[in-house]
Amino acid sequence: DLMPIRRALVSVSDKTGLEELARALYDHGIALLSTGGTARAIAAAGVPVTEVSDHTGFPEMLDGRVKTLHPAIHGGILGLRGNPTHESAMEAHGIAPIDLVVVNLYPFESTVAKGAGFADCVENVDIGGPALIRAAAKNHAAVTVVTDPEDYAPLLADLKAHDGRVGLALRRTLAARAFARTAAYDGAISRWFADQTGDATPRHFIAAGRLKQTLRYGENPHQQAAFYVHGLARPGVASARQVQGKALSYNNLNDTDAAFELVSEFSDPAVALIKHANPCGVAVADSLHAAYERALACDPVSAFGGIVAVNRALDRTAAEAITRIFTEVVIAPDADDHARAVFAAKKNLRLLVTGVMPDPETPGLTVRSVAGGMLVQTRDNGRVTEADLRVVTRRAPTAAELADLLLAFRVCKHVKSNAIVYVKDGATVGIGAGQMSRVDSARIAARKAADAAEAAGLAEPLTRGAVVASDAFFPFADGLTAAVEAGATAVIQPGGSVRDEEVIAAADAAGLAMVFTGMRHFRH
Ligand code: 5GP
Repeated sequence: DLMPIRRALVSVSDKTGLEELARALYDHGIALLSTGGTARAIAAAGVPVTEVSDHTGFPEMLDGRVKTLHPAIHGGILGLRGNPTHESAMEAHGIAPIDLVVVNLYPFESTVAKGAGFADCVENVDIGGPALIRAAAKNHAAVTVVTDPEDYAPLLADLKAHDGRVGLALRRTLAARAFARTAAYDGAISRWFADQTGDATPRHFIAAGRLKQTLRYGENPHQQAAFYVHGLARPGVASARQVQGKALSYNNLNDTDAAFELVSEFSDPAVALIKHANPCGVAVADSLHAAYERALACDPVSAFGGIVAVNRALDRTAAEAITRIFTEVVIAPDADDHARAVFAAKKNLRLLVTGVMPDPETPGLTVRSVAGGMLVQTRDNGRVTEADLRVVTRRAPTAAELADLLLAFRVCKHVKSNAIVYVKDGATVGIGAGQMSRVDSARIAARKAADAAEAAGLAEPLTRGAVVASDAFFPFADGLTAAVEAGATAVIQPGGSVRDEEVIAAADAAGLAMVFTGMRHFRH
């Protein structure tokens, strides 16, 4: 199953490692064929190379749209070795076999990511490259295909070990990678097109991404995991640059994503603390430092070992506050030099910077897997504003209550259902998450607030005089009654239950103000 390599076609946009590769192939006695730019780079390194156009007798044309799309190239890759009909046809037409194809594609994803215009993006759709890759991968019985500079080393190791030949195992592994690459490439193109035309609906979803890194393990140590990005991502974990700290784990990435998406909802300085994908404290204040202190006060026990997300550049005081307790990950659009110096003292802490904040209203798709398939939906970019609210009680909320109600509902959107969120003066004071009954979430939120008050030596629970949000309607009055008992003065919820009248009556009886949003924010 070892196949000798006599002729290689090398056509690469990313010229990383090209010189060393070309020289090593040449040293194995392999004849090199290359397209214009690649041939120039190889020749400049002093390695003999033949231009594809000299090999085919046909020029590269149409601004490079047609370079390798020629029977002398594709016949040389696809012809079956040892098949008399194929071999005589190749001979009759003067087609020389090509045993190795090294191609990486026009940089479509990075052209989109850097914000290029429509025509520029279209011009970066590679046509001949995927054809070469797929032809070589299909004929992997004889041909070796390499689509990533990272695979140059394994290729050269195999060639060396087998005296200028490549084994079937490596050819198959590389063929699988090759098809993954062209699938991801076309997936990115399709996704971008759908975005341009407003067709980014779940019906148009193509599951494709590029492997960014393999992870140490998955949600648990006995699970394997990897991180895929589609290169067109909104700013966030996929595009973030890690400034320092240990390698990111599967759970870190999942939680950091939840944290950053949450904090992107706010325009004033905001901080979100996340544990196990749920917030354990969120606050909006005049400064990041103040917001951090108030977010931490919500549930300091849970915040230990958590993820911190902020929505503007970190400064020294914010960094000093954050590093006072053990924190796994901090994600921010940026961090100034003073903040970086503070974090540098905590070697393990992972600091991620994204450059910019995502726009919470951008459309997009989210995916989750189910046994045997995937569920795809448009991302929850719904945002309730004051204009959407309907006052359903005799008493309308005060201006202060209104601001807290909107904040509470926005936080609710990022809490696993059933979600109950208490807010006072711009900060969460009690969060009930992930319970199977809404009344349990309400009780847990109140109990956590009481615990926090006790730990802080306060006379009464922080829910006294707070407002409360529910991610979905109260099906019975009991959830609302629990909020009344905790001391809430105003409620925000979608409404729409058959028992709305009962729930409104209970609110009126307790003198609460209640508003309906008409929008639900389940999150599972
Ligand atoms: P070079 O820098 O060598 O001029 O071009 C290398 C790039 O051309 C590679 O990314 C390769 O995928 C791409 N390529 C090779 N053949 C063709 C072709 O026939 N049409 C198009 N559009 N791209 C090609």
